[in-house]
Amino acid sequence: MKKAELDLRKAIIENCRFMNASGLNQGTSGNISARFGDRMLITPSATPYAAMTPEMIASMPFDGEYGAWEGPLKPSTEWRFHFDILRGRPDAGAVVHAHPTYCTTLAIARKPIPAVHYMMAAFGGMEVRCAPYATFGTAELSAHALEALEGRTACLLANHGSIAVGATLEKAMWLAVELETIAKQYYNTLLIGGPVLLSEEDIAKTTASFGSYGVQDEHRQLIAEEA
Ligand SMILES: [Zn+2]
Repeated sequence: MKKAELDLRKAIIENCRFMNASGLNQGTSGNISARFGDRMLITPSATPYAAMTPEMIASMPFDGEYGAWEGPLKPSTEWRFHFDILRGRPDAGAVVHAHPTYCTTLAIARKPIPAVHYMMAAFGGMEVRCAPYATFGTAELSAHALEALEGRTACLLANHGSIAVGATLEKAMWLAVELETIAKQYYNTLLIGGPVLLSEEDIAKTTASFGSYGVQDEHRQLIAEEA
């Protein structure tokens, strides 16, 4: 295995461990994928992150038979939406799926997240949608997720969790953390009379002043603080 692929596999595992250590996710329910050339690398099914090694990461070719994979362990049961997102969106380099408490709470109530904070601009629009419910691992769930992600970098999955999509693994994880933070803040405002929402103009101004570099720098700082 070449160094670039080994490094990406290691980064996937590091991000899985960060995801659980930070409280964003619990147990083995989340999963992470990343694009490596013409293949998707994805965490294996039901494997504790502490015991995960780079060789265990499954590899799935984008132009091979749908669902074909290589590796010692089966890919995550949620490989379909990871695969469909990465294959369908050239802008996507990585997908982080988790069951964060506040995102999932809102998803159980089937509440999309409105523009409650200026950071919503990082998600591409005025709301982060909640995809309709479908059984985990199904093509139906993947279709719902892709639709909810149209023009967005994240969505909620009804009675399930969240998905964040980034150009890089770092960016996808940063978005997943940011979404859970906003979900928590939104949830709290619902307890004190409800939020005052930002206008389209407010979000447009934020989008305009958000250099993508600024967002990445903020994430690097976040990772540095966590480390
Ligand atoms: Zn899940």
